Amino acid sequence: MPIRPDRLMGDMRALAAIGRFETGVHRPAFSKDDMAARQWLRGKMDEAGLDATIDGAGNVYGRVRGRTRTVLIGSHSDTVPYGGWLDGAMGVIVGLEVARAVAEMGGKLGVDVVAFQDEEGTFLPFLGSRAFCGEDLTAEMTAATSREHVTLAEAMTAAGLSGKPAKHVDTARHAAYFEAHIEQGPRLEAEGIDIGVVTGIVGGKTARVVFRGEANHAGTTPMAMRRDAGAAALAFGAAVRRHIAAAGAADTVSNIGAIRFEPGASNVVPGLADMVVQVRDTDPAVLARLDAVIRETAQACAAEFSTTVEIVQTQDTPPAIMTPALVDLVERAAVELGATHRRMPSGAGHDAMVLSRYLPSAMLFVPSIGGRSHHVSENTADADIVRGAEVLLRAVTLFAAG
Ligand SMILES: [Zn+2]
Repeated sequence: MPIRPDRLMGDMRALAAIGRFETGVHRPAFSKDDMAARQWLRGKMDEAGLDATIDGAGNVYGRVRGRTRTVLIGSHSDTVPYGGWLDGAMGVIVGLEVARAVAEMGGKLGVDVVAFQDEEGTFLPFLGSRAFCGEDLTAEMTAATSREHVTLAEAMTAAGLSGKPAKHVDTARHAAYFEAHIEQGPRLEAEGIDIGVVTGIVGGKTARVVFRGEANHAGTTPMAMRRDAGAAALAFGAAVRRHIAAAGAADTVSNIGAIRFEPGASNVVPGLADMVVQVRDTDPAVLARLDAVIRETAQACAAEFSTTVEIVQTQDTPPAIMTPALVDLVERAAVELGATHRRMPSGAGHDAMVLSRYLPSAMLFVPSIGGRSHHVSENTADADIVRGAEVLLRAVTLFAAG
């Protein structure tokens, strides 16, 4: 096989050393280590014979020379805080290795490679892929801040990025987009399957739910006279999980991933409680129904504890369907290489979700050990990563053959 396992895994480990934290990686978008990783990637793309640049959004984009019709392969190289070494990074390095293998095989196929910025939403989820596709992000970028209250503009200036253009998607050049990724769930490993052939990506809604009451002395204020924002938030957290389970579909998932009280002291009734609730599903109708469930539940809990509630939707991503003909190709590639495979939806968002709005798109998954991701324990067997690269190379070759 033209995929060279030592080169592939060597580059994977070299990238993981930039921003290493324990057995994982801490490389939030636009951080020093994130930008150092992007400079390193640009160098590797240059070495591979691609014209590589870091654009105004922070995407690293490598264009193969001497080709006017190409396949675009990539993923993201930013991580969640203190995350794993494979989420995103594997798809970028697999793309680079497939580009090198294709060049070494000769022929007329060309592969462009991309490492998108801020897929994980440190400032704005899918910032890089959306900018790459030419979406107008002006208002969202102006409003975007990190959890540490750094504005996106400040972070981009610190990263040395100016207003360079970031739009590169080109339907005349890019015939298709392919992305390899770790599954980030337990299904492939549990079923002993090598390759997940992704049929679609769930959509999601994220909302910030803010209960406002009155901060007061926790010893002298009678229970019946409190306006307890903390109690409202805790009641909401418990109730909304049950209500979502009752109103959702079989594969619906929900999460309350953050909660904060003000002033946050043992002897003060919380005057404010701020939490983030998220739902994901592949069906837009289910997502709309759950949005209503979240609002009704929040209003009921606010009323019970004499607070107000404000719900601000911070993310609304529609489900994405992968291109059926390309899904078939990925499956055929797995069959031809003797890899066991299954079709499956993706429960997590990916850059392919954005790209699929503009280009024929497909994704494949490799197994995650223990189903773990967004954590330093995230891992995949080397052999599974190499097999994923081989299947992707075969799929791209089949695509080029028409
Ligand atoms: Zn990812």
